Amino acid sequence: MSHTIQAVRGMNDILPDEAALWEELEETLRSWFRSYGYRNLRTPLLEPTALFRRAIGEATDIVEREMYSFVDELNGEALTLRPEATASAVRAAIQHNLLYGSPQRLYYMGPMYRHERPQKGRYRQFHQVGAEALGYAGPDVDAELLLMCARLWDDLGLDDIKLQLNSLGSPEERARHRTELVQYLQAHEDALDADAKRRLHTNPLRVLDSKNPLMQPLIEASPRLLDHLGEASLAHFEGVQQVLKDVGIPYSINPRMVRGLDYYNLTVFEWVTDRLGAQGTVCGGGRYDGLFEQIGGKPTPACGFAMGLERLLALMQEARALEPAAQCEVYVLHQGSAASRIAFGVAEELRNHGLSVMQHCGGGSFKAQMKKADASGAVLAVILGEDEAANNEVSVKHLRQQREQVRVARDTLPDAVTKLLFLEDDQERA
Ligand code: ATP
Ligand code: MG
Repeated sequence: MSHTIQAVRGMNDILPDEAALWEELEETLRSWFRSYGYRNLRTPLLEPTALFRRAIGEATDIVEREMYSFVDELNGEALTLRPEATASAVRAAIQHNLLYGSPQRLYYMGPMYRHERPQKGRYRQFHQVGAEALGYAGPDVDAELLLMCARLWDDLGLDDIKLQLNSLGSPEERARHRTELVQYLQAHEDALDADAKRRLHTNPLRVLDSKNPLMQPLIEASPRLLDHLGEASLAHFEGVQQVLKDVGIPYSINPRMVRGLDYYNLTVFEWVTDRLGAQGTVCGGGRYDGLFEQIGGKPTPACGFAMGLERLLALMQEARALEPAAQCEVYVLHQGSAASRIAFGVAEELRNHGLSVMQHCGGGSFKAQMKKADASGAVLAVILGEDEAANNEVSVKHLRQQREQVRVARDTLPDAVTKLLFLEDDQERA
């Protein structure tokens, strides 16, 4: 007897009932991106480990302990399953000289890998969708990214996702703040946890990103980076806020938000909800003007965000009372050899008219077939028996409303079916 094999811990199968909502979300996301002129970029799931070490920063949670890294035994290459995709997007833009001539608005969608403790809203394989505006110095593009997010929440019928904003200024401003922060943290060294003690000397700003609740009071009272911003950084920050005020997007400023990756400067933001427990950040992003140079490109301003699809879906599921999504609009039943042969043509013809159609397979009585039709979630059943076949006719039964079953000539079937489907739509709207 062999043991059964299970999926890797923290990596989920998405089964068809649930996948229907994923597909719906993915379609909404694609048309949302198109409506802002963002184009799709697809990069490999595996990248050289050096890419993430350089881009994300050595003293970060991701690089210190969350990456799936290994050495390819065949050629000795150090590889990592991507924990995020901004580094890959920038690598690809440099490698293919993508910004030659004009800046680029790009988006990606797909799985990411982080070796974290699995819990609700936190997985080891999870999915992100993200936008990267490459070659734009902002603050207009920063603001546009935020407007995009606000529109998406609206499109998805989600409220209660709140915007938090901060500015990380320039590297020089951060250096001045760093001196003050280190002094402050040293003065409270007894209250620091092990991570913070280590980062105090390697990357003190990271201490502010700690998730340890015991550290929060100390973080709350720490010196604010905002107080060290010069004129240009403040003007950029004001510029972003002005647009938000003009279009009426509420936000709050969170002076201690630093984000979990080292590549950010100036604008950083998170969209947060309190409906998902501890995993409340749905989307995070900001400006990363230094990243191109950091991984070997020409200095290039850029800004972007990434959102977690699992967290978005959890909100969507909560927002609607979840009925299993219908598998099709029309279910075709048939019995008898003449009818069964006609059924294929009938189903194909309905598909030619843009309808989603499931044809019954596997035989069985009409009663049994009708049960399957009902379970499929279809609105209409198209029925072909011996009698219909002999007269070149088809019966149509409404599965969701009390209506008389109708019998129509085969060549008028598409019209009859579309009419019945639209009838239901009208009633729903009324
Ligand atoms: P968190 O603070 O929750 O760990 P993060 O700052 O590490 O998030 P980012 O790297 O900014 O997250 O990723 C952007 C978004 O991707 C997050 O806001 C979240 O929605 C999602 N995300 C990040 N890590 C995970 C994960 N392990 N499982 C599911 N979703 C995740
Ligand atoms: Mg994290």
